[in-house]
Amino acid sequence: MRQRQRQVAVRGEEQQDRGRGQDSRPTGVPISVPGAPMTLLAMQRSVGNTAVVQMIRSGTFPGPVVQRMPQDGSGAGSSSAGRAPGEIMKEIKNQIKKVPEGADEPLMKEYGGLRQGRAHAEMDMRFPRSKEGQEAQQTLTETSVLLFDSMKGAQERARVQDPKVEEEGDDREVQGMLINDRLVFASNFDASVDTLVQVGSEEAGAAPTVEQLLAIEQSEEGRSKGLRNHEQRNVGEKLASYRRKNKAIIDGQRGTPGGEQGRGNDPAAQALHAKLSQPVIVLDLHSENLREMLTDTAHEGRVFLLRFGSGPGGAKQGRPDRSVHAEQKLLLALSAAGIRPQHDVRGPLAISGKYRPCMGCAAALMYYRERLGFGQLSFNPNYGHFFQSSVNSLYEHHRHMIDEHYLGFIRHMVEEEVTSTPAGWNEGAPEGAEERRGGPTLRVPGKYASRQADNTPPNSDAEDGPEDMPYRRIPERRLERTWEQETAHIGIGTGAAQSTWRRTGETLSPEQARELHDLWNLGSDRRAPTKADWHRALDLAGQYHTQQGMTYEYLGGVVGRHPEKFGSMIAKHLKEGPQRHVPTRSSKIESRPRKRVKTAAEDKQFIKGGKIDDDGKAALTAVIERLLPRNSWCQDWKQRHDAGTGPDLNPIKAPDELQLKIAELREDHGYDVPSMSQFLYTGENGDNLRKAISRKGKKLLDARRSTTGGPAPVDYDGDTEMAGL
Ligand SMILES: [Zn+2]
Repeated sequence: MRQRQRQVAVRGEEQQDRGRGQDSRPTGVPISVPGAPMTLLAMQRSVGNTAVVQMIRSGTFPGPVVQRMPQDGSGAGSSSAGRAPGEIMKEIKNQIKKVPEGADEPLMKEYGGLRQGRAHAEMDMRFPRSKEGQEAQQTLTETSVLLFDSMKGAQERARVQDPKVEEEGDDREVQGMLINDRLVFASNFDASVDTLVQVGSEEAGAAPTVEQLLAIEQSEEGRSKGLRNHEQRNVGEKLASYRRKNKAIIDGQRGTPGGEQGRGNDPAAQALHAKLSQPVIVLDLHSENLREMLTDTAHEGRVFLLRFGSGPGGAKQGRPDRSVHAEQKLLLALSAAGIRPQHDVRGPLAISGKYRPCMGCAAALMYYRERLGFGQLSFNPNYGHFFQSSVNSLYEHHRHMIDEHYLGFIRHMVEEEVTSTPAGWNEGAPEGAEERRGGPTLRVPGKYASRQADNTPPNSDAEDGPEDMPYRRIPERRLERTWEQETAHIGIGTGAAQSTWRRTGETLSPEQARELHDLWNLGSDRRAPTKADWHRALDLAGQYHTQQGMTYEYLGGVVGRHPEKFGSMIAKHLKEGPQRHVPTRSSKIESRPRKRVKTAAEDKQFIKGGKIDDDGKAALTAVIERLLPRNSWCQDWKQRHDAGTGPDLNPIKAPDELQLKIAELREDHGYDVPSMSQFLYTGENGDNLRKAISRKGKKLLDARRSTTGGPAPVDYDGDTEMAGL
């Protein structure tokens, strides 16, 4: 019955909404924001700096807005004399790689060939615990997990209509912020928000409410993709529990003022429930009324989806946008809106999401709390892994923050504390676990750390009660088992000290990195890149790859693109050369595809044909063994190989160096694909491997041959977020 009434209410709202933003919606353009835009005068008054307004309005939103932010907090803002941000960045890198006196290896190890970033050799595993006193954070996390599932579900639905949607960034994160009794959610990629709202609008026939968005769920198949069995279960059980809790919030049973059934006050749940029938509001960091949206009492109880928008770092000219960690977007919203912690924030302020903050984001959150006067900001201080890409994007967008204090937070996290990792949903703490920061914690070898750096699961649950009590709170759910090392799942695998395979000369100087990054993202006029800029950037990247052995992964990290996609662009560019229609003024010389240089090896090549033989197997095994310490695909292969049975592997995910070797063996020795595929456990008939060879391996091989004729050096740097979800 309640359901029906709400339906009616929603319809009522829709009528109202048609007047405002209807025309922009069917195409998936963000819903227009209700309310009058903030006047310039009001903005000046609130932000206190016309320059800021101009920059925000012109879309050239720079990093250091916060520096101009009026400081009314805890003595922050006394800009500490110290080294320049560029120097601090070097210092952060040194700090992360530093080998302590008397030790052979750095404190921070590289996991999964940096796919999992860096973390300590031993970590704090945190077990399901009470979230008492952190009810708002808990609801932000649980709602973020559900919204993430909806984003993925929306992408699935959109893909049915247009397979290109797959090209969207591989998003892994949603984070929420409670501010002034409203909720703001962000993901790493703007495209995730766009697709969700587009699909939501189509299905709702109007601007969707948060409840309508949450009704879009991912398929079981999509959800379990790339996950191991125990991870699938973990994700499934969490989602189901969070959905039960969310339903209780929607129904007005959970998060009632003052708390319910022994649970504490939950202002996030109250905000979520307050204006259920109102559509979500899509907000760009550059929106003129950003400040009003975050502060005006009229918008209490609204749910916002935050986008980076069209400034540097956002999507441009139809290209997929870049990843900016969701927490960083939320912090940017505070600074872009000129939020003063003491004057513009009423009540609790919290940021929490699906994952625990990575080390770089955790330090940024600490900076806001300790240095910028946001003493009331609550977040999870039990940080996860370190990703250089995260600090790089802080350097780009929050450069004012990259100072001695920021470095100090990082140093403290590296030297005085250890990385945290969540136990499974159903895993209880064993004997010997200690109580740390409000929950049972056990120091475990890093290899057991979860591949999904989720926030620690709550020990509570919700179930349907009897008729007169539709929601029953379970304060302490029963956990199925006790974690023990003997039976624990290997998570991210053993970390490696980087020094074993890193050679010198394989990373760019900061100036070179800046040049490449800016050319790709800002163009030579530093406003918008042209095709010529992109080609020039690909030229540079191609040179770095072929002449200095920098990997696609590393170069992708520098420009902020997905390494595989950037890699295939470089490969294609190397193979085909700049296209003729490139609108360059400087170069009149018509470029043509580079000639393929025949190598001595090719002259001597002979075709064996037939099934893969011992030589071929040995060649593949050698590559796999070499990559084993730092590549999860190779680890999976080894596991499958040793076990003699198990699920098939996806050949397209195999590391570049192996792809190259496969293509080379195929071309030079003529081994048939099914027999190679059987050896690689990528499927009996070899169809998937054939695709991988034509899409990837062949391109890598061609790129290599078209330039140097020598072997493509492979190295790893430039991290790419967590695997799995
Ligand atoms: Zn982060």
